[in-house]
Parts: sequence; structure tokens; C-alpha cells
Amino acid sequence: MKIDLSDYARGAALAADLVNSAPEVRRISGEVLVDPAALGRFLAERGLDHEPVAEDLVQVLELRRELRAVLEARDEDGVAEAAGELVRRASAGPVLGRDADGRWQWQVETAPRASLADELAVLAGLGLLGALRALGHERFRPCASPVCDGVFVDTSKAGRRRYCTPGLCGNRINVANHRARRRERG
Ligand SMILES: [Zn+2]
Repeated sequence: MKIDLSDYARGAALAADLVNSAPEVRRISGEVLVDPAALGRFLAERGLDHEPVAEDLVQVLELRRELRAVLEARDEDGVAEAAGELVRRASAGPVLGRDADGRWQWQVETAPRASLADELAVLAGLGLLGALRALGHERFRPCASPVCDGVFVDTSKAGRRRYCTPGLCGNRINVANHRARRRERG
């Protein structure tokens, strides 16, 4: 896998999406990565072509726990260190390679025999480091929804994003329904 250093938003989004696929975040729909095929679909939706096996899934779920800790860390030097450690698992380079439009880009390549989880660790780690450097630690945020434990990195230009999954967590009806149910249980 070749990873463009300028495209940190992609890796940062992958890191957050992976964390937010966990059942403790998706409390209603539950675990997203229920089996290797579900992981394959998750990756395909993000332009990553891979057919994971059971061992890949185990390792990716372990990486997901590590990424949650990085995204939630209060100490930004700690974030830089932990994300750097993820990058070191399988990276070589940097090299100069051409992107899809034929332009030269600084790239990091993953080792030829790197596992899926280590490739994702490099992609996510570089994304988090890039976002930290370009945008600052303030852009690493918990979801503002009172009924969601998701996290995200706001890589938007304006920097005013509040929800991990805008269409879902920013939905007032969902929040109102949740509060009503809580009152009923009371
Ligand atoms: Zn959310």
C-alpha cells in the first residue's frame, strides 16, 4: 500500500470510522465488523480492496482499541508518539510517487508482507499525525450527541463539525426518542 502524505484526511477518517464501528458506539445497531466479510465491506466503502480472513479481523479489532485510546488522549505529545508508533509497524520510505492525477507526492509505502492490520495502522497513524500537524489537537473531538460515544477528527476547512456521523448523531428525532425511552424506564 502506498499512502500520500498530503492526504491525511483519508487516514484520519479511517481511524475514526474504525473506532466508531464498535458496539459501544453503535449502541442501537451494534457491532459493524461482525465477521471478516463485514470488514471487507467496510474497507471497500473506503476504497481499500482486501479480502480479510478471521485472523485479520482479530488484529483489526485490536487496532481499533488502540486507535480509540489515541483519539481520546488528552496529551497531544502522547498522540504524536502513539500515532508514530503505529506508523513504524510496517512503513518504509518516504518515497516520491505519482498520485492518480500523475502529480508527484511524498508517499510512505508499507512493507510487502505487512498484515492488513499493520497496513491500516500505518494509514491511520499517518492520517492522525498529518491532522495533528496541519490542524491541531483541538480538531480531535468526541461526538456532541448526548446519546453517542463516537469520536472524530474534524478535517473540514471551517472546523465546526460536531458529530461523528452527521446524518445520524445530529438527528434531533433520534435524540428525542432516546430521551423519551429513558424517561419511560425512569
Ligand atoms: Zn456520534
